[in-house]
Amino acid sequence: LAGNEWKKDPTKVNVGKVEIGGKKVVVAAGPCAVESEEQTETVAREVKKAGASLLRGGAYKPRTSPYSFQGLGEEGLKILKKASEQTGLPVVSEILDARDRDAFARYVDMVQIGARNSQNFTLLREMGKLGKPVLLKRGLGNTVEELIQSAEYILMEGNGNVVLCERGIRTFEKSTRFTLDIGGMVAGKLMTHLPFCADPSHPAGKRELVHSLALASVAAGADMLLIEVHPKPEVALSDSEQQLTPESFSLLMERVRGLASVL
Ligand code: PEP
Ligand code: MN
Repeated sequence: LAGNEWKKDPTKVNVGKVEIGGKKVVVAAGPCAVESEEQTETVAREVKKAGASLLRGGAYKPRTSPYSFQGLGEEGLKILKKASEQTGLPVVSEILDARDRDAFARYVDMVQIGARNSQNFTLLREMGKLGKPVLLKRGLGNTVEELIQSAEYILMEGNGNVVLCERGIRTFEKSTRFTLDIGGMVAGKLMTHLPFCADPSHPAGKRELVHSLALASVAAGADMLLIEVHPKPEVALSDSEQQLTPESFSLLMERVRGLASVL
């Protein structure tokens, strides 16, 4: 179902009034993690002003160490919903466990499946049944073909609203946190009709690299960008090194507009 041999015309995924996979690049921006109402509302206002059309933010965080900040859980989803109502930006947030599906159904407009759950086939099927648009990230050790096969699990439950996300893979290269596989994204776009998002923040691992990776992704044909932005990155509870300030994000949006038309 996800393959190009099955469906030739590019799929457009609608999240509220936002169309992903059309002529315009869609930008989702917001904090790595929802930390407080004030932090989330501030950043939502700022990214909206700069031209983002979706608000991202993690409420359930998949942290490598169980002692790291795990996110605010359902309380975080409520904060996102409130920020969404204030700004009109639909919300994308990551689900870790299908048992939280009702909260996601209530508060979130697009459900993210993160890199670590990219092959959690039970969760994929459940998100197919939930019926919300899905942002499906590539696993750290998965090929593009495996990513498309993961999408198949969602599509076969009757949910065709899937956006694939290239977020970098593990390689021997140490100068970046992960290797953003732009070639893989370009090849993937020839294999599937589903739209592709690029997340330059997580592979960069440091904010100095985020602009260039974002621009390279757009130049290579990404339909969507996912960018981490925090009002005060230096005190962020997760991914402090890579989150952009609102000022830097605003500058990035100007640079993206120089390359492509942005929704
Ligand atoms: C995220 O987007 O917040 C995230 C945890 O990303 P990934 O699953 O790509 O690591
Ligand atoms: Mn993050």
